Amino acid sequence: MKVAVFGAKSYDRKYLDQANSEFNHELTYFDAHLNTAIAPLAKGFKAVCVFVNDEIDESCLRKLSDLGIAIIALRCAGFNNVDLGIAASLNITVVRVPEYSPHGVAEHAVALILGLNRKIYRAYNRVRENNFLLEGLLGFNLNAKTIGVIGTGKIGSVFCKIMSGFGCTVLAYDPYPNERCATYGVKYADLESLLKQSDVISLHCPLTPETYHLIDDKRLACMKPNVMLINTSRGALIDTVAVIKHLKSGKIGYLGLDVYEEEGDLFFEDVSDKILEDDIFARLLTFPNVLITGHQAFFTITALENIAMTTLSNLTDLEQGKHCLNKVSDQFIQTARKK
Ligand code: NAD
Repeated sequence: MKVAVFGAKSYDRKYLDQANSEFNHELTYFDAHLNTAIAPLAKGFKAVCVFVNDEIDESCLRKLSDLGIAIIALRCAGFNNVDLGIAASLNITVVRVPEYSPHGVAEHAVALILGLNRKIYRAYNRVRENNFLLEGLLGFNLNAKTIGVIGTGKIGSVFCKIMSGFGCTVLAYDPYPNERCATYGVKYADLESLLKQSDVISLHCPLTPETYHLIDDKRLACMKPNVMLINTSRGALIDTVAVIKHLKSGKIGYLGLDVYEEEGDLFFEDVSDKILEDDIFARLLTFPNVLITGHQAFFTITALENIAMTTLSNLTDLEQGKHCLNKVSDQFIQTARKK
């Protein structure tokens, strides 16, 4: 199949090319992210292959449809950047990679917790300047602390397992509890109790109309003083302005982010020569107790291999008229239509 691959980085090309020896699709790579303005580049292709920050909104979808694009292959699990209702009405099939490395993302959430707690980022810089003072580096034992996990699907459940291995009490909230978590000693609770009791709160639910700004001013206010908040899911789960207010007051003791609600203009690019125009992000960077990574939780060799294999196999299934298990289901499309 002729596929236009957008937002293609060197690592995407490497792993897709490697995997493609088994599939033989005609892959053409574009550096640009797909959006309405870029859509004309898809002329002559049957499918587009995109990632988390491509903007597949109504106008982009209509352009793609006019160009004869029948398939959108997401190289990721989340699909909040695609208007699924419009895609369905245009008969454009959307496929994704629902699971590529839950361990990779869960482990990155743990890396943020440990990095923040033991102030590894500060220690690294100090030691390089021959400053071996310990003041300002004091951490706490994770053992016996209460960890609140919001969303216990593929990633959240792995995260629960790791944290119970640290000897933590793990509280979870999910409208659909995961039976596997019981074997790790996880206790389910309502959201309010979780927020009130947890020393560390980690978000592992998807971004949907219902979870947009799930962590808002009111919910931040009922958290424990000095709480650690970790988000490796989607930026807009957190109201960033509210989080800044609670960082300033000292209510939030630590913030670890791999995602940010306005990350689309920043992440995955080197903008170090440019003026940072996002004042909210700039403010976040000033706090000594905030650790931000640029959407790299997924970024492991295992994940890139799995993403490439599943993406190309999804395209082959559709090309051969087979049922593709990774088609974004009708259930999700109905949810999107209700938006
Ligand atoms: P999943 O679908 O397996 O699990 C999500 C869980 O969230 C489900 O159990 C669901 O019931 C639960 N959920 C839904 N609404 C909820 C709510 N309102 N409150 C609490 N729980 C709710 O998804 P997953 O593979 O575990 O991925 C979770 C999220 O992680 C994805 O949606 C994606 O946004 C994010 N992600 C980030 C990266 C990264 O690199 N940072 C990589 C992969 C995935």
